[in-house]
Amino acid sequence: MDRTAERIRLLPRYLFAEIDKKVKAAQEKGIDVIKLGIGDPDSPTPDYIVKRMQEEVARPTNHTYPPDEGLKEFREAVAGYYLRRHGVELDPQKEIVPLIGSKEGIAHISFCFTNPGDVNLIPDPGYPVYGIGTLFAGGIPQIMPLLKEKSFLPDLQSVPVEAARRAKLLFLNYPNNPTGAVATREFFKEVVAFAREYNLIVCHDAAYNELAFDDYRPISFLEVAGGKDVAIEFGSLSKTFNMTGWRIGYAVGNSLAVEALYRFKTNLDSGLFKAIQYAGVEAFINPQMEPFLEELRNLYRRRRDIAVKALREAGWPLDAPKATFYIWAPVPEGYTSQEFVTFLLEETGVVVTPGRGFGKYGEGYFRIALTVNEERLQEAMERIKGAVRFR
Ligand SMILES: *Cc1c(COP(=O)(O)O)cnc(C)c1O
Repeated sequence: MDRTAERIRLLPRYLFAEIDKKVKAAQEKGIDVIKLGIGDPDSPTPDYIVKRMQEEVARPTNHTYPPDEGLKEFREAVAGYYLRRHGVELDPQKEIVPLIGSKEGIAHISFCFTNPGDVNLIPDPGYPVYGIGTLFAGGIPQIMPLLKEKSFLPDLQSVPVEAARRAKLLFLNYPNNPTGAVATREFFKEVVAFAREYNLIVCHDAAYNELAFDDYRPISFLEVAGGKDVAIEFGSLSKTFNMTGWRIGYAVGNSLAVEALYRFKTNLDSGLFKAIQYAGVEAFINPQMEPFLEELRNLYRRRRDIAVKALREAGWPLDAPKATFYIWAPVPEGYTSQEFVTFLLEETGVVVTPGRGFGKYGEGYFRIALTVNEERLQEAMERIKGAVRFR
């Protein structure tokens, strides 16, 4: 008898299981598989952060439980970064809470605000955690389609009024995974007005806020007037500093939202290893931060250019994304996104992600993650060009 709780049974089936199986089968046959599926940086965490970690991990004072509210030094480092980078002042006591990776906070924010039967507004396609956190809390996800003709920004006017009235949280993510889209200041202003009208909390996922190209620099939601009144913003060291395995992020913004999340967390987890928080401090305060990021952005920009050029040569109509390390491209006519991904894997040994994995409105697209070196990426693109034309 299946005794698992409904919330576990209702989890969507793991969409990539079938593809994972095919990848394994291909590898067993000796095919050289190139994985452009998962958005996990291939470069190491910079030395200056690793060195600090090595020092801190050896200190016995760091081996005890961390303070519930996080290390003061880490909260101050994040505040310093927001002021420097965004011109936003944050109170390190009340407006910043460290997270065990931003996914943790993104999943838990629904438990802080969404009562069973309440609605959360969720972008689709999108990072699956917004909807999963909503469901776990007993909430109802109301999808906001991200359409190409609207530059992959949700059309707030087409959110049903009834859903907007019942809504507690509105999730956004710019620069966007999976579409690579970026938000304008005007759009964020519209969101502030919408949030005020319906008394919503905006949850902005800013995981890719440092990975942008060609002089474009993403803005924080807290930069726009009234932003801090309505929003909590989630930041991550994962993509910025190649630290996905370390599990460190933060939430900043509206003090009521930050406090609610902090209160929830103190009852659930016991914070982040102090050594990791000190490494996080180093990430932001060391003068090597900017040169490191400059190099990282150049690395992804070169890869982006390789992928975009090859896809265009194969007939894809494609603009180069201004940010993130993803390429979001339409599948050729006659395929679903799953079918196209299977076709690519079988014909070329290249693994990409079907858009359907990010929601209903991801159908018709696939995502390339630029997380292999240039030589491998070039090889992958040659194979794709040899196997398929867009039209
Ligand atoms: C990678 C990613 C995260 C970051 O997760 P961490 O838990 O901080 O590693 C959050 N949101 C999006 C959209 C992502 O792609």
